[in-house]
Amino acid sequence: MTTTTTPIQIPTELRPADGRFGSGPSKVRQEAVDRLRDVAPGLLGTSHRRPPVLQQVRRVREGLVTFFRPPDGYEIALGNGGASLFWDIAVHHLIEHRSAHAVFGEFSSKFTGMVSAAPFLADPVRIEAEPGTHPEVTAQDGVDAYALTHCETSTGVAMPISRPAPEGLVLVDATSAAGGLSVDLTQADAYYFSPQKCFASDGGLWVALLSPAAVERAQRLTAQRYVPALLDLPAALAATRKDQTINTPAIATLFLMGEQLDWMNARGGLAWAVEDCARKAAHLYDWAARSDYATPFVADPSQRSNVVCTIDFADEVAADEVTGALRANGIVDIEAYRKLGRNQVRVAVFPAVDLADVERLTAAIDYVVAHMRG
Ligand SMILES: *Cc1c(COP(=O)(O)O)cnc(C)c1O
Repeated sequence: MTTTTTPIQIPTELRPADGRFGSGPSKVRQEAVDRLRDVAPGLLGTSHRRPPVLQQVRRVREGLVTFFRPPDGYEIALGNGGASLFWDIAVHHLIEHRSAHAVFGEFSSKFTGMVSAAPFLADPVRIEAEPGTHPEVTAQDGVDAYALTHCETSTGVAMPISRPAPEGLVLVDATSAAGGLSVDLTQADAYYFSPQKCFASDGGLWVALLSPAAVERAQRLTAQRYVPALLDLPAALAATRKDQTINTPAIATLFLMGEQLDWMNARGGLAWAVEDCARKAAHLYDWAARSDYATPFVADPSQRSNVVCTIDFADEVAADEVTGALRANGIVDIEAYRKLGRNQVRVAVFPAVDLADVERLTAAIDYVVAHMRG
């Protein structure tokens, strides 16, 4: 005799209309993909030095200005490679001698490790905090750049962005936060991110909002040190000003980002997005607080991210079984960040994700857990 376990069937009314809750790549609105299909013959496979593609760079640049309303003098630069490539750019162009880093998860650790490996920089100052919290970053002697992470995507902790000291550039990895968490850009000199999180696009590009001080530092350091050509930030900025990129950009990614910017700007821009994400995150955290098996991982409510929400499960409820059952029902990518190694789920509630779907998600999780408990 063989025993088979029948997979849990989540009732249709509890299934989100869209089951993508990943922290990046994340949900891309189907309407944007449909628009891409419509415009594809005149855009994809055409020269990136000609108007159709130049217009997409301009559209993204202008859409970002409308969305973020950056302070006077701030500029937008973009290029290929994602936020990870911008870390290399920062190593070469934005840190002069020594940086200090808020280290509180995988992404902030990774950037710190890259800085520490650069032979021309001093070993960085690490200001660490346990996963699930963020450190307080204070002024450090001999430091010319502070590296903050607006949302540590691996743990679901958000930190406020404010200058730790009057001197020193503030470099903010805002990859998952940008577009969903509020920010005062006067407190940052480089606010950088990738388009596959709040901007509901595909990966492959980095985008940075740069202060005049950051541009000045980048120009000065380029004149002083060898910088690999693709990491040349002043060259990327000069290209972006002309609606170009240093090399061929990810054109579909640009287009989808432009669609998402238009969509968010039509709803009220960053202020709308911040409120929308907060409402969805509140639903998740309130659900966890009421649940007899779920608890928000981030103990201090003021440190909880409103874009990437981490929820611990009690030991007797195996999160990987829950996520496996959800996956079999088309609800994907809410597994905990692997290296964090916790019995938890991690749910992204970026602007493209509907509140109604987040509500169905928690109902679906409750359904699966009730089923597992028998
Ligand atoms: C996703 C993410 C990155 C990496 O982005 P890539 O586009 O893959 O380079 C870096 N930092 C944070 C905080 C992230 O969430």
